[in-house]
Amino acid sequence: MKIRLENITKTFKTTTAVSNLSFTIEDGEMICLLGPSGCGKSTTLSMVAGLEQPTEGEIYFDDVPMSGVQAENRDIGMVFQNYALYPHMSVQDNILFPLKMHHVPKAQRRERLEKISNMLQIQELLHRKPGQLSGGQQQRVAIARALIKEPKILLLDEPFSNLDARLRIELRDDIRALQQKLKITTIFVTHDQEEAMSISDRILLMKNGVLQQYSTPQEMYRTPVNLFVASFLGNPPINKLPCTLRDGVITLPGINGWKPDALEPVFCGEVQEQAVLGVRPEDILVVTEGEHLTAQVAAIQTLGKEVYLRLHHGEHTLTACLSWDHDYSIGDTLKLKLRKCYLFPSEGGL
Ligand code: ATP
Repeated sequence: MKIRLENITKTFKTTTAVSNLSFTIEDGEMICLLGPSGCGKSTTLSMVAGLEQPTEGEIYFDDVPMSGVQAENRDIGMVFQNYALYPHMSVQDNILFPLKMHHVPKAQRRERLEKISNMLQIQELLHRKPGQLSGGQQQRVAIARALIKEPKILLLDEPFSNLDARLRIELRDDIRALQQKLKITTIFVTHDQEEAMSISDRILLMKNGVLQQYSTPQEMYRTPVNLFVASFLGNPPINKLPCTLRDGVITLPGINGWKPDALEPVFCGEVQEQAVLGVRPEDILVVTEGEHLTAQVAAIQTLGKEVYLRLHHGEHTLTACLSWDHDYSIGDTLKLKLRKCYLFPSEGGL
């Protein structure tokens, strides 16, 4: 099922939760709605589900307008953060509940239950009560209940945020595999950029109800349209250095002995004289010769295969992410080369 939002605005009294939002999700695609708290992700999802009505604009499923179509008639499966299972019912009865409501014949119910519980590896849990399950198991049951109706669309609102980090990774891999197997059009709401990057075909990044960028994770990471997008994706975050651009020449105040002549930044937006140079931590290389910037190691954080260095040059601080094949010490002076950098309009400073 293809989903299209056209000029959607949602206003609650004085708050504009979503502002003039337009985008399309192709049939079988999985997208993430990503953005900081309060940016309008859940409101957008609720409008697609039919739980909220847009103040303006129209939502189409396969080119059919959805205004006036009740939530229960939209052929949608939903999964929320808080599982929302019925505590007095067994796992099996929880999963079968939507089919019972729709008077699906018993034989068909049994068949679908077997199929979905196999897919989600919860066969052993069917006779337990939700209270006898771990958080991850409860969420698997909630996903099974959402999918047993074989909906055309799956909507997930921060489904894994109550789970620990390892389980989140396991479940997000599982949901992605399941989604690809079923080829079900899916919207996944999260504020976790790593989660969004790892599972989506495309990410829609929002800020204050306004769409910032809608693209593949790689494109968003490598070609951000503005400083907000560049800063939201990436851990550790992109380094930001105030600079000026005159006649094509970049000058970095407070950086001595290094003229970034050779830099060929990616221009992100309409860059005027006051600009911000962005450098991702992994694009800082330690070199032994050639054009370089010097900096002192101020702090070292070792993470298994890589190391994060906090580097100082005068008043500037940079974070570099390097592979762990060198011994660095605090106080070392390093020669640095910027493999790739971005230039943004300063947008009133950092
Ligand atoms: P979070 O990640 O914290 O869940 P979100 O991106 O999902 O945030 P929304 O829940 O969509 O954000 O909220 C967007 C804005 O709309 C917020 O400012 C919120 O306070 C406001 N809002 C949402 N629902 C209502 C409501 N029913 N009445 C009034 N304001 C609302």
